[in-house]
Amino acid sequence: MKEKVILTDCDGVLLDWGYAFHQWMARHGYEAKEGFESNYAMAAKYGMEYKDAKRLIRIFNESATMRKIPPLRDAIKYVRKLHEEQGYVFHVITSQTNDQYAQHLRVKNLVEVFGPSVFEKYIFLDCGADKDEELAKYSSTDCWWIEDKIDNAEEGLKAGLNPILMIHDHNRSYENDRIQKAYSWRDIYEMISDPTS
Ligand SMILES: [Mg+2]
Repeated sequence: MKEKVILTDCDGVLLDWGYAFHQWMARHGYEAKEGFESNYAMAAKYGMEYKDAKRLIRIFNESATMRKIPPLRDAIKYVRKLHEEQGYVFHVITSQTNDQYAQHLRVKNLVEVFGPSVFEKYIFLDCGADKDEELAKYSSTDCWWIEDKIDNAEEGLKAGLNPILMIHDHNRSYENDRIQKAYSWRDIYEMISDPTS
């Protein structure tokens, strides 16, 4: 295993899935329920049954939008800095879908936004799938693991990785001494550049 590998989630970390999903939902006639706009659970956000939200998320994750999701916050600048200045490459672990054509669009999206050499590996799991088994494969590496879903960050910890939680409204109040919180990729860049600070 190469030492300079950063493991990262895609949606809500590299790319602004929440924004793109919201726009897509609006185009299909769905509006967020007042007061629930920042909910992580899309069923609560849009005031619908869990199974209906899950179905819509799958349709979205397999749609042409996968080609054009915008970067999250300042991701472009600092992902590139970590790659170009410090020589890191990224392995993406994403529970997007098992649909190969949609996966292909996601790769095109990531390469267009971040450049062709940033990503060394893409690990695709089915829509919403747990990442524990994939993370366990990295258990001997001591890699950084960037996630926004608390469960997945904790699974990284169990696998002996160094998780960093990307903060959104839904995970803001989470506290864990062993999981650092980042509000931007600049925060992540600083943590990785100088882990003692
Ligand atoms: Mg995510």
